[in-house]
Amino acid sequence: MNIKNISIALAICFLVLTGVFFVRAGVEAYDSHYCHPLLTKQITELYNKIYQPNLTKSQKQKLIQGSSDEDIAPRWINHFYDPTTGKEWLGQRLQGVPEEKVRQISKLIFGKDPVSALNWAHNQNLQNTDYRLYQGNRAFESAVSLYSEGDKDNAYYNLGHILHLIEDMSVPAHTRQDSHFDVPVQKEFEQMMGITFDDGEPYENWAQNYAIQNQDLNLVDILEKNYQPICYSLDDCLIILSQQSNNNFFSQDTILDDDYDLPKIKKYIIEGEHINAYGDAGVLLFKKDRESGKKRLDYSEIHQAYWDKLAPMAILAGVEVIKYFHEEVEKAKNEEIVIEKPLKPKFFALLGGISPWGELARLGRFAESVKQDFYAKLNDAWQELQLSIRDLIFRITTFNPFLAFTPPTFSIDETIFSEEIELPPDPFAEEDPNDKTDEILTEIVEYMTGVGGPVFNFDFQNQQNVEEALDDIYEKFDILRQ
Ligand SMILES: [Zn+2]
Repeated sequence: MNIKNISIALAICFLVLTGVFFVRAGVEAYDSHYCHPLLTKQITELYNKIYQPNLTKSQKQKLIQGSSDEDIAPRWINHFYDPTTGKEWLGQRLQGVPEEKVRQISKLIFGKDPVSALNWAHNQNLQNTDYRLYQGNRAFESAVSLYSEGDKDNAYYNLGHILHLIEDMSVPAHTRQDSHFDVPVQKEFEQMMGITFDDGEPYENWAQNYAIQNQDLNLVDILEKNYQPICYSLDDCLIILSQQSNNNFFSQDTILDDDYDLPKIKKYIIEGEHINAYGDAGVLLFKKDRESGKKRLDYSEIHQAYWDKLAPMAILAGVEVIKYFHEEVEKAKNEEIVIEKPLKPKFFALLGGISPWGELARLGRFAESVKQDFYAKLNDAWQELQLSIRDLIFRITTFNPFLAFTPPTFSIDETIFSEEIELPPDPFAEEDPNDKTDEILTEIVEYMTGVGGPVFNFDFQNQQNVEEALDDIYEKFDILRQ
């Protein structure tokens, strides 16, 4: 472990210890609170102008919600796709930390290996098992299945998760292997550690502010005129969009990078202290400082130029993905295609699927829901939770499903004189098809983590709520013990 890695490890500990749960973290693209919802809203509105039947208000809402929730940690490690190599996120270009180290640390804190966005969009098995605790299966095929089964609400919610991936493909950092670790670390801490943290991707930071200030943005009317589909299937749309952002734009750390032949600079124009570099169609791609020679794209006129090209493409591709979804649903109804069911997760696979970062982020979400007396209430709830967890662990550790048996109710006479001795069940005996242990344990974990079943909602304002939820869990354990 070199100094840098130790620093990163310490930084993570620092974040945990100081209770900085609002970790707007990682390798995320457009932010989930403003930018993704804004783009998805535009997609749904343009869709309704171009295609029939129209999406209802609540279907639009589901799509928007899904596109925001796809950012739940650690799902976003799968939001990269490099169209020049077909690869997933490789951990490259993160503050000079070797990519293997980034991958090791990422595996440690996220608990998973990334796959490409193209793979992720369809990978029902991976989503349903490894990510069971983090939103589970939201693959495209799951949306088609749900719709065919009549659960339209959840179908559109899952399709919203797919629209998120489409939107991410329009972010150059996500298609040009540009990692950024965007954590709100205080400047004093950076000085203390002697390192500077990545400030995140400038384009994404800019896009977030832009989205906040332009919530009533309307690109629909312009895009409706002379509408032309830019792609025809989900994969087609993901790939075409990734090529557009990869081939025509830079990310901060890939300006004129040897790994990428494109974009080519068409002309340079000197303007004051800078040399402006222009690409195809006269798009301003970056500025070079004439004195320091530094190439940067962190200027709002550049971000605006990028957004003006990239956002419409994301919207156009999103519209076609919804259209493709409806076509696939029709095919499934007519039994022209068969959607396979994903693997069911086993209890121990669920435990193995726990992501430390995902849990930290989960805590962050709980904390975010608390508006007043944040620390006081969190502390109370934490104490309460610790007690409850201790109690729960005690119950689990003192409970042995293999040896559990009901105490005999016969008299002493019978015990002394009886020849028969009742043995506990053989743990290595063949699996009893009626044994529901695994199923119930799975249910409990899902229940505790808010996946499937009723949501285990930590409402800190209402302690009773937490107690009730825990009581329910205990009840389930009691059923197991019987
Ligand atoms: Zn994303």
